[in-house]
Amino acid sequence: MKREEKASISIIKIICISIILILISGIGVMAVNLNLNDVKIVLENGYEMTVLTSKTKVSEILKENNIVLDEDQKTIPDLESEISSEETIKITDKSYNEVQIAKISEEGVQTSLNQLLESYAPITEKIIVEQVAIPYETVTKNSTGTTTNTTNKVLQNGQDGLKEITYKVKYQNDVEIEKTVISEVILKEPVDKIVRVQQKVTSRSMSLPRTASNSSSQAGATTYKITAYCPCSKCCGKTNGRTASGTKATAGRTVAASSKFAFGTKLNIGGHIYTVEDRGGAIKGNKIDIFVNSHAEALRWGVRYLPVSVVN
Ligand SMILES: [Zn+2]
Repeated sequence: MKREEKASISIIKIICISIILILISGIGVMAVNLNLNDVKIVLENGYEMTVLTSKTKVSEILKENNIVLDEDQKTIPDLESEISSEETIKITDKSYNEVQIAKISEEGVQTSLNQLLESYAPITEKIIVEQVAIPYETVTKNSTGTTTNTTNKVLQNGQDGLKEITYKVKYQNDVEIEKTVISEVILKEPVDKIVRVQQKVTSRSMSLPRTASNSSSQAGATTYKITAYCPCSKCCGKTNGRTASGTKATAGRTVAASSKFAFGTKLNIGGHIYTVEDRGGAIKGNKIDIFVNSHAEALRWGVRYLPVSVVN
């Protein structure tokens, strides 16, 4: 009885220990199983392998699988990265990604993205017909007749013409991206406006619209090239408005002439009396510069050829 008891106890003990061992090892296997990762490794030559690993760091996974990188190779993600199950480690040439980035930055990431989007958005075309007015032109006819009527007379009223333009318009994302003229048809020709301009004749040789009132024919006059200047830096490089003779430059009086005219000389220029008060580097020979108040006025004056004579 005692021996049998002892034997049965030892059997129970063995069974218990076995069960405990099985449980422990089972738990152990389960624990290991929980930490195993299913990782795909793609080699540079395209060969793919799937490995089971308990490691999560890329460098360790490679080491575990006896994969050694060449000097010019790298991994995506990099060696220090932690990865989880079902992710892929790609072994590639070091220049791989850099080349790609360089290609993108050449065109600009934004542009290439837009281009990509654009190329996927559908393009729609429409034919559009527009009627556009053709503005009439005004034609002036100078009349130097003997009439004293100085108002302009409209000989023919102007009328706008009309044309029909057919466009082909391309839209993408409701935005017009291209507009091409297919045809242009004139429906109505414009009619010119014809104006007869009456000019009062002041002398046989020339007409002087600006100074018509007090002019008389200038005996012994010489034709000068008359320009205009203002106090601005473009015209004279100085802005204090003082003339070379020390007077204050005054529009309607001051002119710049060459030194053959003394300061104070009165000149009849195209029927208007001016006083020589200024000089200018470019004012030589038969040139006279008339002082005006604004640069716009100087530009409006332009270049005129007018008779000039000294007033005694
Ligand atoms: Zn000016």
